[in-house]
Amino acid sequence: MDLFEHQAKELFAEYGVPVQRGRVAASPEEAREIAAGFAAEGAPLVVVKAQVKAGGRGKAGGVKLADGPSEAEQKARQILGMDIKGHTVHKVLIASACDIAQEYYLSFLLDRSARTFVAICSVQGGVEIEEVAHTNPEAVARIPVDPLAGVDAAKAAEIVRAGGLPPEAAAQAAVLAERLWSVFADEDATLVEVNPMALTDQGEVLAVDGKVSLDDNAAFRQEHARFADSEGTDPLESRAKAKHLNYVKLEGQVGIIGNGAGLVMSTLDVVAYAGEEFGGVRPANFLDIGGGASAEVMADGLEIVLSDPSVRSVLVNVFGGITSCDAVANGIVSAIGMLGARGEQVRHPIVVRLDGNNAAEGRRILDEAAIGVVEQVATMDDAARRAAEMAAAAATGA
Ligand code: GDP
Ligand code: MN
Repeated sequence: MDLFEHQAKELFAEYGVPVQRGRVAASPEEAREIAAGFAAEGAPLVVVKAQVKAGGRGKAGGVKLADGPSEAEQKARQILGMDIKGHTVHKVLIASACDIAQEYYLSFLLDRSARTFVAICSVQGGVEIEEVAHTNPEAVARIPVDPLAGVDAAKAAEIVRAGGLPPEAAAQAAVLAERLWSVFADEDATLVEVNPMALTDQGEVLAVDGKVSLDDNAAFRQEHARFADSEGTDPLESRAKAKHLNYVKLEGQVGIIGNGAGLVMSTLDVVAYAGEEFGGVRPANFLDIGGGASAEVMADGLEIVLSDPSVRSVLVNVFGGITSCDAVANGIVSAIGMLGARGEQVRHPIVVRLDGNNAAEGRRILDEAAIGVVEQVATMDDAARRAAEMAAAAATGA
């Protein structure tokens, strides 16, 4: 899960990473009120920042300085509703602006290819960091971090020294780095990034921006539910998650259910390919029901897939392994029965391809059950083609 900047900064503040004061507004009027609060304290200059989970907001016009409440309202009006890289801005952060003397870059991340954690630090931070990394890579230091040793004061000093930070910023930046590492390690993040880490005219070092990616696999031992973003997640995906299903909503018309992530991924490709012939029919979702799929899991999966209003047909593509095809076939039969009993009669055609362990018995069970909406096809390519064809036919009412 990625956090919004304001959430990242709330987390930073909990760990003592210095950030500007700020609050989130969902309307221009609210932005005005927050700015009025700062103005009353003698700090009228604020920065109005689009809260979207995308980088490059500044360049896209989503970060604007405002002098006083009415300017803050006006800037918020411009930014709210803006589209930044496909993300609509629903909220803005109104932060007390700082006078930036220099902009640095600092992050910790999991480097999968190097199989370790890495700190990245540069004296040349700011909105052009990608460009710097490209044209002047030696200006961007990468320092491996031993996961067991972590980042203590000495390691933090090594990181900011490697980044080339000047003496007037180094000590404070090292303290910031040590605390930022605590955020990274204690919160089970895969990325924490501060760009810019700014040196102000007053000689303070603080995190002006914040990006955090949390490892969802560690959610069970964290209190990250408070960061969940209901607006940003698809309602079907939320329902699937509640049922512990590995489901991703896509834009097409053929519902997909398979076992094993690799098989489901290739099923998506095959359906998209076959669908070209039928006016661009495409897969409607990714759903991996995993190795030991029970009838309940199959029923839950079918229910989720079928409640997607764009779905016109379903393709169940199973390669029997540990779970044999006869168990899957029984699962399909009872799943359709279960859905009927729940008052959710299945009306869309379901194309089933069973192969692998005990496929013949699985096919026999489905044949014998003689369910009107279920059609078996022997190969993956033919099954994909048939599912795409039926989706196209359903769409045109044929
Ligand atoms: P990004 O473009 O999405 O990375 O958004 P940032 O939060 O990093 O803001 C982009 C740029 O806006 C920063 O690099 C700063 O140059 C500038 N900026 C952001 N906040 C302030 C502020 O409080 N004061 C000043 N002077 N500039 C700011
Ligand atoms: Mn930034």
